[in-house]
Amino acid sequence: MAKYVFVTGGVTSSLGKGIIAASLAKLLQARGLTATIQKFDPYINVDPGTLNPYEHGECYVTEDGAETDLDLGHYERFLNTPTSQANNVTTGRIYQTVINKERAGEFLGKTVQVVPHITDEIKHRMLLLGKDGKYDVVITEIGGTVGDIESLPFVETVRQIQWELPEEDVMVVHLTLVPYLKAAKELKTKPTQHSVRMLSEAGVRPDVIVCRAEEPLNDDIKRKIALFCNVKAGRVIEAADASTIYEVPLKMLEEKLDLIVLEKLKITNFKEPDLTKWNIFLTKLKNPKSTVNIGLIGKYIELQDAYKSILEGFIHAGAMNEVKVNVVNVHSEELNADNVNEKLNGLDGLLVAPGFGNRGIEGKIIAVQYARENKLPFFGICLGMQMAVIEYARNVLGLKQAHSVEMDPNSPDPVINMMEEQKRITMKGGTMRLGAYPCTITKDTLAYKIYGTTEISERHRHRYEFNNDYLKAFQDAGMVTSGVNPATGLVEIVELPNHPFFIGVQYHPELKSTVEYPAPLFVHFIVAAKLQAKK
Ligand code: GLN
Repeated sequence: MAKYVFVTGGVTSSLGKGIIAASLAKLLQARGLTATIQKFDPYINVDPGTLNPYEHGECYVTEDGAETDLDLGHYERFLNTPTSQANNVTTGRIYQTVINKERAGEFLGKTVQVVPHITDEIKHRMLLLGKDGKYDVVITEIGGTVGDIESLPFVETVRQIQWELPEEDVMVVHLTLVPYLKAAKELKTKPTQHSVRMLSEAGVRPDVIVCRAEEPLNDDIKRKIALFCNVKAGRVIEAADASTIYEVPLKMLEEKLDLIVLEKLKITNFKEPDLTKWNIFLTKLKNPKSTVNIGLIGKYIELQDAYKSILEGFIHAGAMNEVKVNVVNVHSEELNADNVNEKLNGLDGLLVAPGFGNRGIEGKIIAVQYARENKLPFFGICLGMQMAVIEYARNVLGLKQAHSVEMDPNSPDPVINMMEEQKRITMKGGTMRLGAYPCTITKDTLAYKIYGTTEISERHRHRYEFNNDYLKAFQDAGMVTSGVNPATGLVEIVELPNHPFFIGVQYHPELKSTVEYPAPLFVHFIVAAKLQAKK
């Protein structure tokens, strides 16, 4: 059986519980242990697939096709191991399961209640990943902030687990904020004390307090927090702001978070941490030799989290290429034929982002045209690939009204069509083409050069596809369909040969980019942008 670490948060949201959890897991992994991370989210949506990016940032998709919280992306990028449906559980999913059981008669004769039925279901799922012997440590991040009405059943379940399991099998890491009051020139511990009190009232005893603080915590402050929050001296640690999230594991190593956890969980079979690859990456990340400017054409650019995995993909690929990738956000709604030259001038490459719906579509098509005509490196992801197809249809094939049926159901030239199996689907949640599918790549293409193999697997999240009725017309006009799904013939990759770098992919390569294995498409796109920058 695995040991369990729960990560809770107090005072405010956005303290970075996910990054702390991922950093701890990274350190345990570097010490030769196996760790996984799961996130329990308190909202009622069964998964975040039905939330728009303004509400919740990017929806991250796992290999097995789960639509999940973007923190799972951090877990994978840090640990370089895949997560799954089991790694992200919401209140909605818990209730759905319990209500389905109730309808099936599993609780016949009983009143179904939050305690024990909901908490039992939460407990079952919290302990699940630790049961098959695959992991030494399962880290569970509890979404939201302690004290929220919504989080109560999760916190209550942590209390039960803390009470039921042996002392050395479970621990709680509580993350709080220690604000610095400029006027008083002082760090203030009261919010931390209050949040720990709230946790204690719910019956949960924190073992470690991790304090986010803009100023260093001195020993007096640490002692004070330890005393008032009832944790052992030495178990109050500081999480200072880092210049990049990838530095946080090293900061946690300095603060000995890993050793505190190993001591509390009585784990002894660990080695000195091996962070060689991680450190090489960090050194490259911090010492770029040049800069490339990449235009990110999207409609959610006000919100950085909406394109989280893409931005991280650029960081990985930039480090590998020893360049700083300066992402220039370009709002697709504000882009038109009159201002496109001015707005995109000076960029070394364009990435047209994924998305849904009509808003900002024409701006994306204009951006593709600009990249194609000016021989600027172009990389289209999902909707971005679909826009590249539409642009080519309109401006090269001469099909002026070509469109995707998503935006224009009556287009005379629906070059992007709804996938056949999608036409029968009416429910919106979890029904897209999701998760990993194979793709076969044609030799002597850009895609082949990038991947160096003919068989790849990438993750998906879409309802629409390249309309193969137009395949020959596109091919005759010079567009190469260099990757297809071997079972269905669905076009996964399009590219243009007479161009330094022009590629669109129906899948989401950003979802598989990790520190250790940057996504090949991102790496090569940055190589092309570097060449462009030299011109
Ligand atoms: N809206 C498009 C589709 O459903 C693209 C989706 C995406 O970019 N993730 O096919």
